[in-house]
Amino acid sequence: MTPRPVIAIDGPAGSGKSTVARLVAQRLGFLYIDTGAMYRALTLKALRTKADLNDEEKLGMLAASTDIKLKQESGSLKVYLDGEDVTSGIRTPEVTNNVKYIARAKPVRTHMVAVQRRLGKEGGTVMEGRDIATVVLPDADRKFYIDAAFEVRAQRRYKELKEGGAAVTEEDVRKDLKIRDDSDINRPIGPLRKAADSIIVDTTGLTIEGVVDKVLGLIKA
Ligand code: C5P
Repeated sequence: MTPRPVIAIDGPAGSGKSTVARLVAQRLGFLYIDTGAMYRALTLKALRTKADLNDEEKLGMLAASTDIKLKQESGSLKVYLDGEDVTSGIRTPEVTNNVKYIARAKPVRTHMVAVQRRLGKEGGTVMEGRDIATVVLPDADRKFYIDAAFEVRAQRRYKELKEGGAAVTEEDVRKDLKIRDDSDINRPIGPLRKAADSIIVDTTGLTIEGVVDKVLGLIKA
């Protein structure tokens, strides 16, 4: 393995992959790239500018004219949209429920993949998303597919949203997660797939620390 390896991590919503990716990057002193945050930031801009979410060409132009930056600041990842800190603004239910329109637009994905490849090319990177091992970085040094049972993912999301003060029911969360799974798995471009050479890590009965140690062990092996 190269001295500055590239680690690709994919998986469905609520699998724990973002937390695992962030902690693995921290422990290795690597750059953490949350590609979901990039799709979310563009969704926020599209909503704010009242863009037609079904006009893929226009969404592609919007992507090309938008500046999205991920910065590690005092141990956490901050997301900037055209210079504005939108770290918490991209986590609202409105953004979560509309990101599928942005994520399925081919010109948007073409743009995002090019930007993400540039970010990953220096190495010393942990990049996390849905299509990282399959499309963005197929030559990554290590590839992981982080998964968990649907009910476990739904419970994690529910807890997260409740802690954030959201007025949601478990049933709402299950429904939204199912919709997001379906659109992530079934979109024709960049769908959520396990790459043939990705290692599956099922987080169902594991603590986050347990998963992080397991992934670090596999990276160093
Ligand atoms: O990871 P997170 O749940 O924040 O991602 C938000 C959404 O962005 C996902 O549901 C997915 O539709 C989209 N996404 C994507 N490709 C990626 C990362 C995220 O389409 N590489």
